[in-house]
Amino acid sequence: MWYARAFFCWSALPCLFLAVGAFAEDEPPTLHLAPDRVKQGGMAVVRIAGAAAAGMARLRVGGREIPLASSTTGETRVAWIGVDLEQPPGPLEVVFESTMRAGRPASARAALLVLDGAYPVQRLSVPRSFTDLDAPTLERIAREKTVLDRLWETVTPGRFWNGPFRAPLEPPARGSGFGLKRIINGEPRAPHTGIDFSVPSGTPVLASNAALVALAEDHFFGGKSLVLDHGEGLYTMYFHLREWLVRPGQRVAGGEPIGRVGRTGRATGPHLHWGVRLHRARIDPDDLLRLTAE
Ligand SMILES: [Zn+2]
Repeated sequence: MWYARAFFCWSALPCLFLAVGAFAEDEPPTLHLAPDRVKQGGMAVVRIAGAAAAGMARLRVGGREIPLASSTTGETRVAWIGVDLEQPPGPLEVVFESTMRAGRPASARAALLVLDGAYPVQRLSVPRSFTDLDAPTLERIAREKTVLDRLWETVTPGRFWNGPFRAPLEPPARGSGFGLKRIINGEPRAPHTGIDFSVPSGTPVLASNAALVALAEDHFFGGKSLVLDHGEGLYTMYFHLREWLVRPGQRVAGGEPIGRVGRTGRATGPHLHWGVRLHRARIDPDDLLRLTAE
């Protein structure tokens, strides 16, 4: 950096002074968000320039710590931010803190504006037997939720994925239904946190990118469920499968068959439910496809 400054120097003495100053003090970090406005359930990339930290470096979004990605380009560090589907609209503070080479603390701030996703409301009427669940079933649901919540908390160091994510079907199809606010028999229920693909039973399901198979279990809601860990807190999930073609602990490549479409669990017909979690946040899979393609 000081070479550029030295170019403008008029004498040798100030040049030396500037050079020493630049070496001792570093440039303070700056944040760049792309995009800087994100709908509920969307994603953004933050690039942190001048982030050559001597020691501690951390990023917080809305008060929650977000892991910095291992990929760095020179002095620039990168992190992926996921805005949860139910994050209230408004500004979300992004704060980077680090220690400069000279040992001084440095920080940078930016605001990510969360926009209302304006997701449509879906009203459904189902037989009461569908919603009135007995105690053992409720216990089972709670147990399975704990398993998944623990998984979303787990940040595997390093990144398995590379290049753009792809839709989990061939030819790539378009799913729908992310964010639907569901009202079942007049009662508000959890929103729909993935996209659904209506395809015949038995259709091969493909890994949307390289990953480690984190979970293959039969759950009450998701039926035969598969979760892929792409590293650094990013997960994709595949529900209602007829069968699994991979096992937990196995590494898979992007586009590799991992299961077959079915209608297991709570499904009214054969379809694939595809969901994304990033640092716990429930993300629109279409945003993952779009952002990683850029
Ligand atoms: Zn679904």
